[in-house]
Amino acid sequence: MSTPRQPYPGLRQRRQRELAEELAATPAATSPHTGAPAETIGRLTDRLGELRDDLTALSLDLHAHPELAYAEHHAAAAIAKLVREHGIPAEVGAYGLPTAIRAVAGKGGPRIGVVAEYDALPGIGHACGHNIIAASAVGAFLALAHVLDEGTVELIGTPAEEGGGGKQRILDAGGFDEIDFALMVHPGNIDVAGSRSLGFRQVAVTYRGLAAHSATGPHWGVNALDAVVTAYNGISQLRQHILPSDKVHGIITDGGQAPNVVPETASAVFYVRSLALDTLADLHTRVDAILHAAASATGTVAEVSWDNAPAYLPLRANDVLEARYAVNLASRRKVLPASARPADEVASTDMGNVSVFVPSIHPIIAIAPRGVANHTAEFATHAAAETGVTAVHDAAAGIAATAADFLSDERLRADARAEFDRAGGRLRLADALGTPKGSAG
Ligand SMILES: [Zn+2]
Ligand SMILES: [Zn+2]
Repeated sequence: MSTPRQPYPGLRQRRQRELAEELAATPAATSPHTGAPAETIGRLTDRLGELRDDLTALSLDLHAHPELAYAEHHAAAAIAKLVREHGIPAEVGAYGLPTAIRAVAGKGGPRIGVVAEYDALPGIGHACGHNIIAASAVGAFLALAHVLDEGTVELIGTPAEEGGGGKQRILDAGGFDEIDFALMVHPGNIDVAGSRSLGFRQVAVTYRGLAAHSATGPHWGVNALDAVVTAYNGISQLRQHILPSDKVHGIITDGGQAPNVVPETASAVFYVRSLALDTLADLHTRVDAILHAAASATGTVAEVSWDNAPAYLPLRANDVLEARYAVNLASRRKVLPASARPADEVASTDMGNVSVFVPSIHPIIAIAPRGVANHTAEFATHAAAETGVTAVHDAAAGIAATAADFLSDERLRADARAEFDRAGGRLRLADALGTPKGSAG
């Protein structure tokens, strides 16, 4: 077996060195809010200690049984079983999705949504560490359910984060309507209190031309593959003139059947990503124009179909709540403000869609050294190693304490809500995108 080629080792190493120095010099986040009484946090910590072995076992079980989007049957069953063993009913198949989970405990009042992801990636299993997200969420939920004197906590098991947009389907089903604060912790290679993410839309295009014999009668044909190539080249040229944080990438999914037949149809899929809603809208407009222009240039007809799976919106930060998370983990790890994470390491998540609907946090917990990226085989190994297990317990503690803060501290709730409202208040996906779904021509 050959070692995978590492391009540009010099660039990579220099960047990691610079970053390590930068992070060491960055102070941890601080919070002006009081949060939950120490006594509540103590009881949560005790409860999490009792759950320790169960949570470790759940994380490793999920890691050993990776499942793809909307097929997370083993994971959903394992999570629900553990919740039920601790005396709380759990529904698998909630919100009309066979592998979504819902469990509720509490006494009315403000409502916390503890979000669990548990899907894996094709070929490389739990290379995004969602087993850790699930186990830490279940731990926090159970600890809160048994300790809370006020408020309500829900476990919301959300399938299909790696494409498929399970959270958007749950939003559509009203699953977050009653939630006041949604939170989860995602594994990565840095400890930050929040994330920024790229809004993400996809577009499928099929060009229709006219088949002809490539040798005897090409002049009777209209070549659909030429339209795809023109579109691909147009997008490549666009790339020089978009924001450094914007991304457009695509593949040709149908390039014809045989070289001796002028392709009658040809298709491609492109992903477009941008850090903010307005720049995502611009990128959508520019890519859409190129796709249609390629049809004009080649005399084909374009069928352009946007968002065949739910778009992912950029995460909306909540500094007030992120700061509580950082403070709550201070005794276990130094958690930096979200801004410490390099902008070029940002991906997309459907938690973004939740974050514009209810105040949310999406911190990153380190399970791998700097330079080991999510979605690699190496990262998958870390997700089941000692650092991955420690992250389950630390993240569970961080989620539980931050949720308890929210329920106990009225001023924190008000300030978090005010920050959310200042950032635009509650948005639904269609309003956030501001464009009609799909276009043709
Ligand atoms: Zn991922
Ligand atoms: Zn992930």
